[in-house]
Amino acid sequence: MTEEKRKLKKLIKYLSETRLDFYNNPASYFLEISKLLKNLSPILSIKAAGMAEKEGLTTDQLDQFLAEINLILIPEKKYKDESSNPAKNKVGGLKRLGAKSMEKLEKFGLNTYEDILLHFPFRYDSLSSVIEGEKGVLTGTLQESGMIYTKNRKRLYKAVFSYEGGQFSATWFHFNNRFPSSALKNGKKYSLFGRINNSGGLLNITHPEFLDIDDVGELRAVYSLPGGIQQKTYAAAVDNVIEMYLDYLPDLMPVRLMDKYNFPEIKDAVRTLHRPKPDENHKALADRTHPAYKRFVYEELFYTQLGLLLKKRAYSKEKGIKFEIKEEYLNDIKDLLPFKLTSAQKKSLADIFNDMKSEDQMNRLVQGDVGSGKTIVAFIAGLIAVKNGFQVAIIAPTEVLAEQHYNGLIKLIDKTHLTAALLTGSIKGKEKQQSKDLIAAGAVDIVIGTHAVIQDEVSFSKLGLAIIDEQHRFGVMQRKQLMDKGYNPDIILMTATPIPRTLSLTFYGDLDISIIDEMPPGRVPIITRSFPDSGRKRVLDLIHKELDKGNKAYFIYPLIEASEKIDLKAVTDGHKSLSKIFGEDNVGLMHGKLKAQEKNELMNEFKNGDIKILVSTTVIEVGVDVPDATVIVIENSERFGLSQLHQLRGRVGRSDKQSYCVLLHENEISDDGRNRIEAMVNHTSGFKLSEIDLEMRGPGDFFGTRQAGLPEFRFSNIVRDIEVLIKARQDAEDMLKRDPDLENSSNKVIRETVINKWRHGLEIIEVG
Ligand code: ADP
Ligand code: MG
Repeated sequence: MTEEKRKLKKLIKYLSETRLDFYNNPASYFLEISKLLKNLSPILSIKAAGMAEKEGLTTDQLDQFLAEINLILIPEKKYKDESSNPAKNKVGGLKRLGAKSMEKLEKFGLNTYEDILLHFPFRYDSLSSVIEGEKGVLTGTLQESGMIYTKNRKRLYKAVFSYEGGQFSATWFHFNNRFPSSALKNGKKYSLFGRINNSGGLLNITHPEFLDIDDVGELRAVYSLPGGIQQKTYAAAVDNVIEMYLDYLPDLMPVRLMDKYNFPEIKDAVRTLHRPKPDENHKALADRTHPAYKRFVYEELFYTQLGLLLKKRAYSKEKGIKFEIKEEYLNDIKDLLPFKLTSAQKKSLADIFNDMKSEDQMNRLVQGDVGSGKTIVAFIAGLIAVKNGFQVAIIAPTEVLAEQHYNGLIKLIDKTHLTAALLTGSIKGKEKQQSKDLIAAGAVDIVIGTHAVIQDEVSFSKLGLAIIDEQHRFGVMQRKQLMDKGYNPDIILMTATPIPRTLSLTFYGDLDISIIDEMPPGRVPIITRSFPDSGRKRVLDLIHKELDKGNKAYFIYPLIEASEKIDLKAVTDGHKSLSKIFGEDNVGLMHGKLKAQEKNELMNEFKNGDIKILVSTTVIEVGVDVPDATVIVIENSERFGLSQLHQLRGRVGRSDKQSYCVLLHENEISDDGRNRIEAMVNHTSGFKLSEIDLEMRGPGDFFGTRQAGLPEFRFSNIVRDIEVLIKARQDAEDMLKRDPDLENSSNKVIRETVINKWRHGLEIIEVG
């Protein structure tokens, strides 16, 4: 049996490499395959024989068939009954690790034997190299040792050894009367590991570790471990677990892909990563490009992509609405528009129209930098839905934004007979009830509101399209909530936190994406400058100049976590001092403690010009549109995250006037803070900034994968592994092209694996 398997694997590999051979004589290959399959899978064997008789076989058909074979090559018993797989058992006890240590490991996330097998070293020490300035091993015979005093009366312990290269020394700055002297005997040979430096012509090793002579020359794995557990003790436990449980680790990588990339089998890979042979590529192991490691990266990304694609497919299987996009509708709408659309806006609309026309449910994300004009795109889609006789919901994250959208929409549909309603938390009582009744009766065409209100309180008569603004990833959850309420609208998500395409494959991999990558015409790039607080005078000069021109300014104060009092004090103090300078009537104060109603009034006063300066906390972060505001001053800008800074800056530069963003900061700031400010000064593109943000924060923080309902990434790093990600996406797409729902019995394992992996995330994918 195993011999047949081995031959079969070899043949598969050969066939995927030499396609020409296959073309020359497909029949003979299929006959060969059929023969090898006889005992392994009689059904497939017969199928192969049938293939041999077909004419004009393509390599696609070959691939498909090979994919089916691959699955039977995965050892059946290993995954069949996952719950009884000993590797999945909770760790009962480990050699030399007591109950306390076990508890620590458990808290650290190492619960099962499989966890331990897949908890790979984060570093490898080469217990052989001797490179000055790096860690290495020196072996020699002790000549003498003792305590000495340095010139400035510091105590240290020094030992001198002789070896084939002459002499070397070892130094301890911290020592007691037992260590290291108790470890050292003159005339005995020692191997010492530590950082090696040249000290006055002599190699010296500081605070070395004493090695077993046997270990010299090895690559030693170093694990990240909870405090109090020794590397040596843990390494011994790992050896034990490898011996007992490695055989039970199922290899879930489709063989065809394994061959395609020449990945090692799981057992070899695990062994190599924990216990690399001395001649293993040290550098590749260290920077995680070794095939043994890449294998896990790939597997993880492949199954993530497969899951996302299946999800996407599940959405689109949801029966949607077939909207009509009639010429006359478009002409009607065109007459309403105050400006010509940019070609990027048109392109996104074309995508949206295509989705609307199709009977599949739309799930499209429109990404566009701050100020690129997403709102109008959403409105146009909304108007089309209304013309088709449906209702539209526009869901905004804040009341301020909901009100702004509402005002904008009212202006747009002023001369039409269309109706719109605003629903937020601060609209109450009779007024709200009336709106809700009208909506339920189908008498309101477009409902704009905050998501809590729309989702919890409103029932629609005929909801056809939901537009979720500035909700990033979380819009996906809202989709689910809408569906749970029995609605089945097409969905458009809009985000101003653009991320590079390759990254959106993971973050938004289950959505269709349109990008508005162009600003409306006539925009002047915003000038961004940073000043320490001492430069405040120049900033005020700038404000004076801009106000004289009839423009407006924002002053933004950071939210200080867990201390709303300080937060409020900073912003009220700022308001006071600016009022003194610019006149009380000209300066407004906005913060989270205000009622929504008050916020909206303030916003309107600012828009109308009753107020010239708006002092605010970050309440105004997203979406707010006041085109003649030309300056935004951000106080303590070092405290803001990069994407937040970019969002804030997007409040200005929304017209053809020159705008300014001023980043004030304390004189002494952290490196991170300085880097963020520098990035803002040097870059204007949101795409570029999110890339930098991602690099600075690392993918975990950036994505907040848990919250976003994606499975956790254990091996891969979305920045480092972009190339692997793209391949994995492609392979997943190819696989689903052949078997869209993984229904093929041969893809059973893959299907089960996907479901399993995603089950450990927040959302269970809705397959089949
Ligand atoms: P965002 O993409 O950040 O949501 P908005 O939709 O608020 O941006 O648009 C920003 C500003 O640009 C608004 O004042 C809007 O009226 C204006 N705008 C949008 N599209 C165009 C266009 N094609 N030509 C001119 N102005 C536009
Ligand atoms: Mg917007």
